[in-house]
Amino acid sequence: MNHSELESQIRAAIRELSATFPPEYWRKADEARGYPEEYVQALTEAGWLSALIPEEYGGSGLGITEASIILEEINRSGGNSGACHAQMYIMGTLLRHGSAVQKEKYLPQIASGKLRLQSFGVTEPNTGSDTTKLKTTAVRKGDFYYVNGQKVWTSRVQHSDLMLLLARTTPLDQVKKKTDGLSVLLVDLREVNDGELTIRPIRNLMNHETNELFFDNLKVPVANLIGEENKGFKYILDGMNAERILIAAECIGDGYWFVEKASAYSKDRVIFDRPIGKNQGIQFPIARAYVNVEAANLMRFRAASLFDASKPCGKEANMAKLLAADASWEAANVAIQTHGGFGFAAEFDIERKFRETKLYQVAPISTNLILSYIAEHVLGMPRSY
Ligand SMILES: Cc1cc2nc3c(=O)[nH]c(=O)nc-3n(C[C@H](O)[C@H](O)[C@H](O)COP(=O)(O)OP(=O)(O)OC[C@H]3O[C@@H](n4cnc5c(N)ncnc54)[C@H](O)[C@@H]3O)c2cc1C
Repeated sequence: MNHSELESQIRAAIRELSATFPPEYWRKADEARGYPEEYVQALTEAGWLSALIPEEYGGSGLGITEASIILEEINRSGGNSGACHAQMYIMGTLLRHGSAVQKEKYLPQIASGKLRLQSFGVTEPNTGSDTTKLKTTAVRKGDFYYVNGQKVWTSRVQHSDLMLLLARTTPLDQVKKKTDGLSVLLVDLREVNDGELTIRPIRNLMNHETNELFFDNLKVPVANLIGEENKGFKYILDGMNAERILIAAECIGDGYWFVEKASAYSKDRVIFDRPIGKNQGIQFPIARAYVNVEAANLMRFRAASLFDASKPCGKEANMAKLLAADASWEAANVAIQTHGGFGFAAEFDIERKFRETKLYQVAPISTNLILSYIAEHVLGMPRSY
């Protein structure tokens, strides 16, 4: 099967599956701040969330290009990949740096849907984007690490069996480079003992299950260390290009959704005896938003094809994320404006998607830090922080 046939098949299959979850489903979940369990289950059962797992472990062995199409289509159908995307973007850390034993133990179960790898604990309340300063420690004693500290914005932890955790294993003042001394642990949340982990949900702008975590001597077997001790930051960085590309694709999906909703509404809504879409003041912003989504989409596919060819793609992945997040945010604003007052009404879904797509201005990396990356690493300008 050539790439475009595969792409069409993936798009059609996700659209068909998503069509069985109408807008009311997402609206209800949003209102209740509830996890879209049934939708995630349906995606899991159909094998879509194990797209990146190699066939030998029970997955479908697809590339980032295909994985990104899956997430794009979820968002383009009116849903929100935020409920389940981490399984795709954190998978690479386990795939590339996990031991044969770890892969054998976890990947087939993740592929079959028995285990969920949906949670990723990096951000901390006092250090934020300055990741290497994070304060959570993992101290080894015998066959276990004992984790102490705090994380914030750890998403989907209540709907995951496994969590990838970044913690400091060598104090900052004892390492040559600040990026040294961090390690990645695969925490099996089913094995956590009472009192070792406190989860405090954070109510937020949209329906996104995210939490504060407090670790009190959380016991993690040394066997769950991914790769080498003290080299974890590199492993996390490795996964970031995948994350940027996948998030870009979600934004592209949102962007198309907003543009389609806005243009359809503008053709139907008659005010002053003419469809509002006849006015260039309405047309042009929608047309411009569409142009920007299309342009961002090119960068997303460029980044994805470099990634799949194992070529450097840091520049393209970051640019794709920035362009796509900006394009979806522009399209979201245009959609609200086009709908006038109805843009604010929950039953039109615009305001929900507007809130959802705003996240990508800030997470998983904020626009400013992408610009810093481009300035420093692409244009050779001085480091600003
Ligand atoms: C809903 C939600 C879900 C999330 N899920 C996860 C998750 O699952 N796992 C996880 O680990 N994290 C998660 N995050 C955290 C997210 O990755 C961070 O919010 C993000 O990286 C920014 O960090 P911060 O919020 O601490 O902002 P800060 O680092 O405090 O930055 C605040 C603002 O200052 C700007 N800024 C900071 N430094 C500079 C500089 N040098 N130059 C210019 N501007 C600067 C930033 O761009 C930002 O706009 C989530 C966040 C949200 C809101």
